Amino acid sequence: MSVRRGSLFVIAAPSGAGKSSLVNAVLAREPEISLSISFTSRGPRPSERHAQHYNFVSADEFRRMIEAGDFFEYAIVHGDYKGTARQSVEPHLTAGRDVLLEIDWQGARQVRQKVPDCVTIFILPPSREELERRLRTRGQDSEETILRRLAGSRGEMEHAPEFDYLVVNRDFGQATEDLLSIIRAQRLRTAAQLAHHPGLLEALLA
Ligand code: GDP
Ligand code: ADP
Ligand code: 5GP
Repeated sequence: MSVRRGSLFVIAAPSGAGKSSLVNAVLAREPEISLSISFTSRGPRPSERHAQHYNFVSADEFRRMIEAGDFFEYAIVHGDYKGTARQSVEPHLTAGRDVLLEIDWQGARQVRQKVPDCVTIFILPPSREELERRLRTRGQDSEETILRRLAGSRGEMEHAPEFDYLVVNRDFGQATEDLLSIIRAQRLRTAAQLAHHPGLLEALLA
């Protein structure tokens, strides 16, 4: 029996909007989704672990992977290489598993080209002041990095209208529910439901 391909979800946001925290909350409720662990040439933050938050590689190694065609998408984000390995996406979709990518707007554009029926979601902070406060209270980045990310947040948010869904992360619990609703609505699409309940409609119509 052929397996229906999984859905591909793409989530983007300016740094500090709460994307990683929200994705963790969603995965705790929907463990069947496969989260792609990106590759990056940026150094790890104090709390980050190799292969858990990112696969940390040198810029030379990243370029070697580009040459080898290993990436599903990649971009330079805040001066560092960031990319999704093909291996983190294609085998899972083929096996019928939903896949979630946490990537920037440049990567989202590449993914839309490759997989036109992907579902793209942009997370907005409730205000500029709150975005700055969250970047600072995370306490993981230097002042210079925080200022660079704040300056870059406008460039990221300009692309919000290109996305299928917008979620405003004011109340964390509400934003988590909003993301779960998007994922569940996708699973309730008729083509997905017919594949998930094989023979049901035929039996009802017999
Ligand atoms: P459970 O959700 O842990 O009880 O395990 P299931 O085998 O029922 O579900 C496996 C995966 O299918 C999970 O990711 C579910 O969210 C998803 N799923 C459950 N019900 C449906 C459905 O009616 N339609 C679709 N498309 N997916 C579903
Ligand atoms: P991103 O992955 O988008 O850079 P994080 O998930 O690291 O963002 O969140 C940035 C900071 O904001 C973290 O300290 C997180 O705990 C906090 N945060 C996230 N969502 C909310 C929210 N709705 N209300 C208050 N603080 C939040
Ligand atoms: P951070 O350094 O805060 O973890 O992430 C900074 C930015 O890099 C975010 O906008 C995030 O979406 C983006 N990013 C993380 N992984 C990838 C990836 O694999 N590909 C692309 N294109 N962007 C990524």
